[in-house]
Order: sequence, then C-alpha cells, then structure tokens
Amino acid sequence: MPTIAFIGLGHMGGPMAHNLVTAGYPVQGYDVVPAALALAAENGITTVGSLDKAVADATVVITMLPSGAHVHQVYDTVLATATPNTLFLDCSTIDVDDARTAHDKAVKAGHRFVDAPVSGGVAGATAGTLTMMVGGSADDVNQVRPLLDIMGRNIVHCGAAGAGQAAKICNNMILGISMIAVSEAFVLGEKLGLTHDTVFKVASQASGQCWALTSYCPVPGPVPTSPANNDYQPGFAVELMDKDLGLAANALAKSGVTGELGQHASQIYHRVAKEGGHGLDFSAIINDIRRRSEQ
Ligand code: NAD
Repeated sequence: MPTIAFIGLGHMGGPMAHNLVTAGYPVQGYDVVPAALALAAENGITTVGSLDKAVADATVVITMLPSGAHVHQVYDTVLATATPNTLFLDCSTIDVDDARTAHDKAVKAGHRFVDAPVSGGVAGATAGTLTMMVGGSADDVNQVRPLLDIMGRNIVHCGAAGAGQAAKICNNMILGISMIAVSEAFVLGEKLGLTHDTVFKVASQASGQCWALTSYCPVPGPVPTSPANNDYQPGFAVELMDKDLGLAANALAKSGVTGELGQHASQIYHRVAKEGGHGLDFSAIINDIRRRSEQ
C-alpha cells in the first residue's frame, strides 16, 4: 500500500485526503495555513510541519493547490529529495503548459507524473464522486487508479501528461459560456414580460437545454439546490471561473483557435470577479447582466 503525501488541504484537498484515510491509506498532509492543517488533523489525517517531512517515505505525492505557480514552487522544493520513482499526482487546475513542464521536471528528477484535475466541487470531493480528467502514461495512470477511484466516480483517461488539464479547460469553457447565455436569456425574458418559470419550462424542454439551466439555474425557484436560492453563496466561486476561463483564453490564443466567445466570457468573468462578484457563485453573473441592462 503506498504512503501518500497530500499537499494542499483546502476546500477540495481536505476532504479528498480524508477519503483516502477513510479507505485505509496512510496519508501525511501538509498545508501552509495552520487552520487547514488543524482541520485535517481533526479529520484523521497525519499532519506534518514541512514539505520535506510530508514527502519523506511517500511513494505518491498528491497536490491540490490554487495555481500552476504553487505546484511548481512545491515541486522545486521536493523533487530532489523525494524517494526515487515517486508518482506525482497533481489534481489542481493549472495551465496545460504548466502541467507538461511539471511532468518534464518530475521525469528529469527520476519520478513519474499524472495530472488529474477534477470537477464536482466541494460536495463531490466530500462524497468521493468527483469527475477526474486524467493525463499520463497508461502504466502511471493504472498505478494511481485505486486512489482515483476513492476520490472520484467518473475517471476519464484523456491522453498523455497535460491532457487532463486540456479536457478540464474545454469543459469549463463550455460551462462558463453557457451560464452567460442562460443568464442573458432570463434577463431578456424579464424585459419581455416572461416569468422565470416560463423561460425555464420552455428552454429546459427545448433546444436551449443545458446543465447551466437544468442543474445550476441562475434564478431562484426552478432548481431548488442551485446557489441562486442561497444568495449566490458558492458553489463554484466567480474567481475560480475567472481563473479557469483565463486558462482557456490563454490556451485558445496559444493554439491559434478563433474562440471569440471563450475570450469574451473570460473578460466578463474577470470584470465581475473584480467588481462586486468577489466571493459569490459564478451564476451571480446574472446580477451583473441585470444591473448593466438598467444603465
Ligand atoms: P483552496 O484555496 O481552498 O485550497 C488550496 C490550499 O493550498 C490552501 O489551503 C492553501 O493554504 C494551500 N497551499 C497554497 N500553497 C501551498 C504550499 N506551497 N504548500 C502547501 N499548501 C499550500 O482551494 P480549493 O478550492 O481547494 O481548490 C484547489 C484546486 O482545485 C484549485 O486549483 C481549483 O481551481 C481546483 N478546483 C476547485 C473546485 C472548487 O469547487 N473549490 C472545483 C474544481 C477544481
């Protein structure tokens, strides 16, 4: 049974590490924030006071960190001292190029690397039902498969290292754009005298149907579990959508893809994250559209 170092015990990493402990794996957890460490310890994770201590004796190092810069900072600290042939599993959402560089660094230092960004939010992390988009060699992916099966429910091997991140940003670009489309439709419906229920009843059973409408509806009422019913508390914070669409916009530009909607959506979430949407769910984009429509 592998000994696991789990680096980054925040909203997602904390419950993911907890599920590994519950399944019987030895986990050494580390986070720079003392409160995250304390909460992890309460949840049965063996916590340590430094990165070096976390990776000592580990054969799998899982990272769940805010950005590619954080992942590289951690790798630059531990790659040289980790046990040879350690498998580095990065579950953070980061740039495709950052993931590929992390792979190259890990391999150069005598280790292995798999990227496995996730979808499903804190609820999915807690329930162990995340969708995990996986990039890496078949051998490496097979080796971490038992761990992925504990943390997630839908495990999709997307290709070589970096392919998991590529799939994640494609998915989130669809989600970000479709949430804006659904929100614009509700605000237009308001102006044209339609109730929210009418717009929902029609679009959810017609060709406007999509996840942003039927599972995550941006107006209160039609989908009682959506953040709109809870003053737009996240959920999936607008800052995270801003980050993910920033990664998508960057990838569009680098790949030479004419992604006008992806680029524009990225600019819209960026503005909303900076102006008034901070800390709210990304579906609060509808309030920005409504406010600007009154100007
Ligand atoms: P978070 O900020 O709650 O957790 C990140 C943790 O990393 C924090 O506790 C932070 O202290 C820690 N950290 C930062 N630098 C560190 C370092 N050098 N060493 C050790 N710990 C360090 O973020 P989160 O919501 O858990 O998200 C983590 C990743 O998962 C992000 O890449 C995010 O985009 C992705 N993600 C989040 C969600 C979500 O709903 N929250 C959903 C899907 C994917």
